[in-house]
Amino acid sequence: MKYIDEFQDPELARRLLDDIHATVTRPWALMEVCGGQTHSIIRHGIDQLLPEQIELIHGPGCPVCVTPLEMIDKALAIASRPGVIFCSFGDMLRVPGTGRDLFQVRAAGGDVRVVYSPMDALRIAQQNPEREVVFFGIGFETTAPPNAMTVRQARRLGIRNFSLLVSHVRVPPAIDAIMRSPECRVQAFLAAGHVCTVMGTDEYPELAERHRVPIVVTGFEPLDILEGVRRSVRQLECGRYAVENAYPRAVRAEGNPAARTVLAEVFEVTDRPWRGIGMIPDSGWRLSAAYRDFDAEARFSVDGMRTLEPAECRSGEVLQGLLKPDECEMFGTGCTPRSPLGATMVSSEGACAAYYLYRRLETRPVSREASPVA
Ligand code: SF4
Repeated sequence: MKYIDEFQDPELARRLLDDIHATVTRPWALMEVCGGQTHSIIRHGIDQLLPEQIELIHGPGCPVCVTPLEMIDKALAIASRPGVIFCSFGDMLRVPGTGRDLFQVRAAGGDVRVVYSPMDALRIAQQNPEREVVFFGIGFETTAPPNAMTVRQARRLGIRNFSLLVSHVRVPPAIDAIMRSPECRVQAFLAAGHVCTVMGTDEYPELAERHRVPIVVTGFEPLDILEGVRRSVRQLECGRYAVENAYPRAVRAEGNPAARTVLAEVFEVTDRPWRGIGMIPDSGWRLSAAYRDFDAEARFSVDGMRTLEPAECRSGEVLQGLLKPDECEMFGTGCTPRSPLGATMVSSEGACAAYYLYRRLETRPVSREASPVA
C-alpha cells in the first residue's frame, strides 16, 4: 500500500540502522512524543534493533492517557443526567473514572453513543432538538480542528442543544515542561508528525534553542522512526540542537493554515492539567469567549469538580518517561487492559497497553488474560 509498505522496507531499514550504529559513540536518551510512535517502536521491535547506547523514552503523546481523571468524572456526571445524549469516540468508554466508566453509565441507562466524528454528534443534536447532546472533545492539535469546526457549524446553524466537553492539549508546552523537570533525562525529541501537519513547526526552534535539544519531526512507520533517530543521533554526536523535518511528505513549516485559523477563532490557550503530570501552563485550549456558551462544563455546572488520581497507578511517571511500563508493580497483574488502573493501559496508544500487547511475555509473569484490547 502506497505510503505504508514503502516506509516498512526491510533493506532500507537495515541501511538506516547501519548508519545509526556507525554514528553512535556514547549513550543518548531520546523521547518519542507520540503514543502512535511508541506503538510502532514496540510493535516492530525498533528499540531492540538500535545500538544499546540509545534509549527510547516513551512520551506523553497519547490523548486518552493524558486526559485527567477529573475530566473523565465530569463526563460520567454529564452522561448520567436524564435527557442527555453523550457522544464520544470509542476509546473513552473504557477509561475508568472514579469507580466506573462510560460503559457502566450506559449499562445503567445513560444514553452514551460512540461516534466517528464530532459532526455525527451535531447531526444527533439536530435530530433530537428536545435533548441535550454533548461531545467529548479530547486530544491534541490533531483532533481539535474538527471539534472547533463543529462548534462553529453549530452556531452557524443555530443548534443550541449541542455542547462540547473540552479537554484539548498542546504538545510544545509539554515538551517545555518535560525539559524543565529536574529529573529529565531526555536529550532529543522525535516530535509528532501529525501534530506538525496541523500546527507546522514554528513553535519548535525557540524550544530547541532554550533547552539546547534537537527536535526532529517524524512520522509513524518504521523508516520514519529510524530516520528520526538517525537525524537526532547525528545532531547529538556533533553537539547541534536544531529542528529538522524528517516527515516532509506531510509536514510544512506553516502547517495547515485553514485548521489554524479555525482553532484561533473557536479556542483560546489556557492552562491544563495533564493526567499524572499535573498542571502545565498554556498547555491546552478552551472555548473562546465568542463560543463559551457551547461549553458543556459550564452548561452542566461540573466545572468545580475535583478528583485525585489513584495512588497505585504510576502512569504519571510513565508519561514523563521516568518509568517503563513493565517496571510498574501492577503491570500485567493488578492492571491489564480488561481491568485497567490507568489510562495508559486502556488506550490503544498508551505505553502500558503497548508493552502488554507486544512485550508482556518477555518481561513479568502476567494474568491469563489473552486479548489485550477489546
Ligand atoms: S501498568 Fe497500569 S497501574 Fe501501572 S502505570 Fe500502567 S496503567 Fe498505571
